Amino acid sequence: MNLFEGGSIEMMIVMREGATQAEIEHVLERLTESGARGYVSTGDVVTVIGVIGEREVIAGIPLEAFVGVEKVLPILRPYKLVSREFRNTDTVIEVGGTKVGGGHVALIAGPCSVESRDQLLSSARFVKEAGASMLRGGAFKPRTSPYAFQGLGLEALKILAEAREETGLPVVTELMDPRHLDAVAEYADVIQIGARNMQNFYLLSAVGEVDRPVLLKRGLSATVDELLMAAEYIVKEGNTNVILCERGIRTFETATRNTLDLSAVPIIKQRSHLPVIVDPSHATGKVDLVEPLALAALAAGADGLLIESHPAPEAALCDGGQSLNPREFARTAARIRELTAWLGKTVG
Ligand code: PEP
Ligand code: MN
Repeated sequence: MNLFEGGSIEMMIVMREGATQAEIEHVLERLTESGARGYVSTGDVVTVIGVIGEREVIAGIPLEAFVGVEKVLPILRPYKLVSREFRNTDTVIEVGGTKVGGGHVALIAGPCSVESRDQLLSSARFVKEAGASMLRGGAFKPRTSPYAFQGLGLEALKILAEAREETGLPVVTELMDPRHLDAVAEYADVIQIGARNMQNFYLLSAVGEVDRPVLLKRGLSATVDELLMAAEYIVKEGNTNVILCERGIRTFETATRNTLDLSAVPIIKQRSHLPVIVDPSHATGKVDLVEPLALAALAAGADGLLIESHPAPEAALCDGGQSLNPREFARTAARIRELTAWLGKTVG
């Protein structure tokens, strides 16, 4: 489905509180007659219609004169549907009984990769016990070296589904190749798009067409606006459930694996209505930095955390140096819960 053939959203019609369906329909009909189109977003209080079409055509329609219309505003940012201008209320995403955004903090935890059934089930049990709200684990791994462990693929997806069955935790796993989309969408509750694929535009459009929330990680050298444009690729296809993730960016600093850009959290919240979570594990690459930066992320307004944890980090096939062991994870999760409560939010 391409919602935006013939242009992008240039204007936003904000309907009056209590505008009737007939008034909304009337505006939509008039837009169609003029060769433009409307994209309706129904909020709790007001309905907003994004106007798609050529700027000159739209400018010729006296939209403000229509009954039920409160005001007409141009959308100036390059991204439209994900912008706060388009939707002022925070998007809350529901995943298998838990929520992300709008006061709900997601605690997503688990190993970097699914290595075996025992390793993953054991991970699922201890993260659940410590209060995680979702389980993560890579089945298809984006590894810098082609000789490094690449993940168990389909077998891992089945193990993840078994762990969900046992613990009730929704599962998050990465998709790298559109050829695996059906399989990943069948087994996963949330599809992760990794940092390296943030600008793989065909992949973004493909996940935009499925009915699964997407966790979109910021690219290694991507600006905040590039991240938001990538999210727009997904939402534009009809999938509005996108969770953004700050996971550190490349800088000159070598003391950490990446540099966690915490300012991205409040900036994204100013510019977009989508929830934003933080991954202090890949951002730092170091176990002892995970907890302080997880707490700092919550203080900065993050809607969740993605934390790597492993039953035996010293034996991990991937990212052991940044993975919390069960005892460390339980301690960090307890502190996350305390701070979340202090902020007036809830985990899950
Ligand atoms: C991951 O979450 O396992 C991962 C590979 O992260 P990133 O894409 O942020 O490097
Ligand atoms: Mn990892």
